[in-house]
Order: sequence, then C-alpha cells, then structure tokens
Amino acid sequence: MAISHNLGFPRIGAQRELKTLLEAYWKGQTNLQNLDEGALALRRSNWIRQRDAGMDLIPVGDFSLYDHMLDMTATLGAIPERFAHKGEVDADCYFSMARGSKSAAAMEMTKWFDTNYHYLVPEFTSKTKFSISSMRLFREIEEAQELGIAPKPVLVGPLTYLYLGKEKEEGFERISLFEDLIPLYHEILGKLADMGIEWVQIDEPALALDLPEEWLERFIRAYSELESSGIRTLLATYFGSVEEHADLLKSLPVQGLHIDLCRGRNQLDSFLKDYPREKILSLGVVDGRNIWRADLEKEFSFLKPVHDRLQERLWVAPSCSLIHCPVDLEAEAGLDREIRSWLAFSAQKLKEVALLKKGLNEGGSAIRGALESSSLILAERRASHRVSNPVVEARLAKLTDSDHKRANPFEERQKAQRARFGLPLFPTTTIGSFPQTEAIRKSRAAFRKKEAGFLDYLEAMRAEIRLAVGKQEALGLDVLVHGEAERADMVEYFGEHLWGYAFTDNGWVQSYGSRCVKPPIIYGDISRPEAITVAWSKYAKSLTEKPVKGMLTGPITMLQWSFVRDDQPRSKTALQLALAIRDEVLDLEKAGIGMIQIDEPAIREGLPLKKPDWAEYLDWAVKAFRVASSGVRDDTQIHTHMCYAEFNDILPAIAELDADVITIETSRSDMELLDGFGKFDYPNEIGPGVYDIHSPRIPETREMARLLERACSVIDPEKLWVNPDCGLKTRGWAEVEAALGRMVEAAKLLRSKYAGA
Ligand code: GLN
Ligand code: ZN
Repeated sequence: MAISHNLGFPRIGAQRELKTLLEAYWKGQTNLQNLDEGALALRRSNWIRQRDAGMDLIPVGDFSLYDHMLDMTATLGAIPERFAHKGEVDADCYFSMARGSKSAAAMEMTKWFDTNYHYLVPEFTSKTKFSISSMRLFREIEEAQELGIAPKPVLVGPLTYLYLGKEKEEGFERISLFEDLIPLYHEILGKLADMGIEWVQIDEPALALDLPEEWLERFIRAYSELESSGIRTLLATYFGSVEEHADLLKSLPVQGLHIDLCRGRNQLDSFLKDYPREKILSLGVVDGRNIWRADLEKEFSFLKPVHDRLQERLWVAPSCSLIHCPVDLEAEAGLDREIRSWLAFSAQKLKEVALLKKGLNEGGSAIRGALESSSLILAERRASHRVSNPVVEARLAKLTDSDHKRANPFEERQKAQRARFGLPLFPTTTIGSFPQTEAIRKSRAAFRKKEAGFLDYLEAMRAEIRLAVGKQEALGLDVLVHGEAERADMVEYFGEHLWGYAFTDNGWVQSYGSRCVKPPIIYGDISRPEAITVAWSKYAKSLTEKPVKGMLTGPITMLQWSFVRDDQPRSKTALQLALAIRDEVLDLEKAGIGMIQIDEPAIREGLPLKKPDWAEYLDWAVKAFRVASSGVRDDTQIHTHMCYAEFNDILPAIAELDADVITIETSRSDMELLDGFGKFDYPNEIGPGVYDIHSPRIPETREMARLLERACSVIDPEKLWVNPDCGLKTRGWAEVEAALGRMVEAAKLLRSKYAGA
C-alpha cells in the first residue's frame, strides 16, 4: 500500500488567527497563556484537517510562532550572545531574537530560497555552543499523540541549518560546526525514538542549491554519523532537482528520500535506477508553490508504473511544505466561479494527494469519477475565454528587436534629458510613496466597501497629492512624486487595473512572523484596458513647475509577487505584463510626464536557485523590462528602483536594463554595493540610498554628506542622484520631513563642493 503524507501545513490559520494572536500578545493585550492556548487550538485544527483530508503521516514541528529556522535555533540552543540567554528559551528570548529588544538587535531576516517567505538567519561564531534549549518540538509531539494523530516530526537538517546561517566572526568558518552539531541531532533523534516516533522528516532543501564540494562531503559524513539513532529518517529535498546528487542520496544511510517532481520532474529516472530495496521514495507530485489544481489523470498515470515497482515503498506528497500556499479555497466565496474551479489551496491539495494514493492502492477504477472531472475542468480551463486573448497573442507575436531597445544610446538621451530638465548636480528625489496615514487607509477602504462614493475617494486622494506636492516643494526637492496614496500595495494596485488578474479574499500566505501577503492570481492573458496612473501623475504635475516622476511597478516584480499561470512559461507572462506597462509608460509620456520610474525590487529574487540557470532568466527578465520602458523618446527619463537584495552579482544585467537612472537601497550592504557599481563602471546615472527608511532615527546631514562623498569616490559625481533607500509609506510625516530636509541640505553641501570642479 502506498502512503500519503504532508511535508508542512500553513501555520497562519485560514483567517490569519495566528497573526491576531501574536499581535495582541506583542501589544500586551493578552498574556502568554492565551497565546499558547490559541496556538495549540490552531495546531490541533491543522492536524485534524490533514488527517481528515486523508494523510497517513502528519507533520509535527512545522508549526511555529514566528519562523521554523528560528525554532531550530532555539531547539539547538544556538542563541546569539547578545540575547544573554540561559536555560530554556522562553517567549521573551524567542521574540527578542525575532523582533529585537531594547538591548539587542533582532536577528537578520532573509528570503527562504526563491520564496517570498523570510527566515531568521542563524548566527555562528567560534563561541557557538549547541545544547537542546527548547522542548517545543517534543511538547507538540505529545499534543499530537494525545489527539491520536500519527506524528511525523519535521526538523531542518544540519546541512541546511548551517549552510543558510552566517558567520559573525572574522575568519571563522561555520562548516566547522558540523562536528558539534551532529551529536545534538543524534540526541534529538534519540529522544524522538523514545517517544515512540517511527518516522522523522529531515528537510534538506539546501541540496537544491549549488553546494561547494566540501559541504557535500561534510553532509555525507554527518548523515553516516546519524545512522545509529534508532529512528527512520525521511530526507526531504524540494524547490528544485537534486538529480546530480541522486547516487549519493541513494547511498546515504537514511530510510527514505523525498524529491520534488513539480520543480524537477526529470530527476525521477536517476532515482529509480537501482533504487535501494529497503528505502522509501516519496514523490512530491502536487505543487506546493502554486494554487492550481493538479492534472490528476496525468499524475495518476505517471505514478502508476512507479507504484507497480515500489509498492508500499512509494509515498505520495505535495512537492514541498504548503506554507507557501493559502489555506482553504472554501473561504473564497467572492471569487469568480469558473476561476475558482481551476484552483486548489492547501486543503484541496491534500485531498488530491489522498485521491492519488487511493487510486494506487485500490486501482484506477476507484477514483475514475474524480479523474474524469479533474480532466474536464482542466479542459475547460484550456478552452476558456477568460484565459486567452487573441489581441495579446498577436501583439506578442509582432514584437521585434526594436521594441526592446531605446532609439538612441544613453549618452544621447542624457544630453536631451539634461537640456529638458536642467537639474542641478546631485538632484534630489524620493522613491515614490509618502506616509500612508490612517486617513488615507480609511478613505481607500470606504471606497472599496462602497461606503463612500468615487468622488469622495477622488477628493481624498487629490488632497493627499496636494499635501505631498506642497511638502516636497517646501523641502526643496528637485524631482517630485505624487506620493502613491491610492495604492495599498504596489502589485495589487496594478493587478486590479489589468485584465487577466483575479483576487482572493483570504488567500493569505505568511511572509514573515505575523506578516502575510495575499498574492493576486494571474489566470489569463494580461492586458491593460485603460490608463491606470496617468490621472494621479497629471494632477501632481498641474500643481508644480518641478518635474514629476510617474511611478509604476515593473513586469518582473508583478510576476514575482503574484501566483502565476502554470500553462505557459513565466517568460511569456512577463512579456504580457511588460506590454501592459509599456502602454502605461507611453500614456504617461503623452500626458507630459517626463520622468517615469519602473520599480523592480523583486528582480533578484526571481533568480533560479542554480547559477547555470541564471543567464536564461536574466535574459528574459531584462527583455521584459526593456519592452516596458523602451517606447519613449530620448528626453523622457526612465528610472528604476531596487532594494533589499544582493545586487553585486547581477550588475551586468542591471546595466542591461538601460534605465537612465537607478535608485538603489544601500543601507543593508553598507555601501559595499556602491563599490560594486564603481568597479563595474555602471554606465548610467545612479541614486544610492543615503538613509535607511526602516529606522525611525533621523539621520544627520553630515552622515548623508559623508555617504555621498564616498559614493563620489567610486562613481562620477555627474551621475549621482540623492534619495532615501526606499519608499516612505511606513513612516510618519514628521520624521519624513525632518529627514528629507537634511537630505536636501546634504545635497547642497556636495553641490557647493563639486560645482565647477
Ligand atoms: N515606489 C515604491 C514605494 O515608494 C517602491 C517600493 C519598493 O521598492 N518595494 O513604495
Ligand atoms: Zn524599495
């Protein structure tokens, strides 16, 4: 008999219950006991849901009050020194690692592989000592056992845990910590065995990255040392193919392997070849990273021959943990009925897994009806008028090289732009958004809920634009923006105005801690029925003599922060988005907006996990940006903006975008980025962020001036712009005005120094 299992379930709750619990606790509105009870209720309902959906083995330990990597840090006792912790990690210590405290800064957060989930980065020094410091996992196992659930504990594996961490000491190499770490895993596994656990899932998604040889060697040694723990281990890989390690993984002393067949379908043969007789093979055939229904007929005929060979040694599962997927489609009463029928959220995906298992165990006829209706729905989706738009198709087919190339090279455009705008040296500007006050949110919400009419909303937004323009004029900024009051979210706002996008009411996915996002769904060919931002920018322009910069979200960021179609390549969807944005760019230009910023903060996170695949992605991503931006005249200035990612390793691609100006966050890399831009000799103009917008602290004029001086030492001062790191929507007006005032002063200091130099 084949077995069905799940790798992880969304912890946030169908109605974001965990968010509510956590935020009430942090604000001091409830106590720890309430938080714990609420969290337990959530875990219980998740377990029961999974059991009722037909899972034979249910993950335990995948739940977290903040982040599963942080939980691992607590379990292993690798608490950074600044948290001055002793004994068992309590809630105060746990949440100060996550969110910082008066005396200690929070641990750094970064993206989990190529997902939009953020984990807390483990910190390692030569003083790092491991000892079991949280009993959370063991308590949760007991809770599950009390409920009569068959728990399969989940741990982040030693390779992934160490590899994703960071050294916090010069000269120290974290790989040396394997030595100390393995005995601890041994101890944990021993404890689990004592609790009567049969299977444990050890997640090693790091195997899908390009791993250095020495890490692979240490990984093999580590797992051989874990062998004697007396428990059966399922080594889980996901997010990509691990085919190059197939022989190695088959020879490891673990009792089962899980591979992701949604991201790496082709790897199966390498695993099936001489698959060890005693090992389980778990196949992730239902996509944990997207929201589409599986093609059950196809999956069933794919699994059938594998099952004939492996029999009870075949396990069926989603491709990865379901935390990247919303909880339950049942909560989407407002969604278009037809589109809804094409979707599967976590609860539905588990049913798909269970159904496939049933077919394998009881024969295809037992699930014939379900397979047929699945195929019928897929056929309807393929043929649906909601999906295809021949006009978009025809436009894509007509794209030529000249559509992704500005008419003239940067030098000529720069001349035309300088003549048009006459800006001073070190021009000052912002990244687009201004404080999103309670009043703004209220008027947007009232309009959305139809409690206020369009004219009320319009006037509220116009008032915000007047306010923002007035303040920017008073501050003496050189290039103004309208302030983005109309947008709650930079992707959602554009999605709502494009055809081909659908929105959910409750399709929340955890981003970090209590923060969730609700990615919109691209279900069909994208087109722009009418102008989106032109009226706002035009109104701003009517209020000032200064140049106004239009503000758009770029095609790759739209793609990256949405659930995308699985029936055509991402590159094609990106081009469709690019054409829609191109239309908006041209309409802005026609309306006299001379500068247009196309934000691409997500361009870096779209990179494939393995470096050999980067070039292909960068190629189509750059092309999409250029399609969006290249239709304009020489004297229209295209800006782009990027932030909060590593950019030094993709500088050539950033240059290829051929934006006239790039504004880029630098606080995170402490100007290392600028050295990169300097060394690379970035050809166009650049505005390195001169202050961190995440901090309420108001920077000193001289700090910003000093930063600019440093920038001047690596980049031609003629090319430099002056701006904050990112948008200001999370800040209050008082800080914003103070900080921008000083920023303008800093630019003036630099001007007086460099004028005529
Ligand atoms: N224009 C956007 C803003 O200012 C950019 C946001 C971002 O980079 N994520 O808010
Ligand atoms: Zn930004």
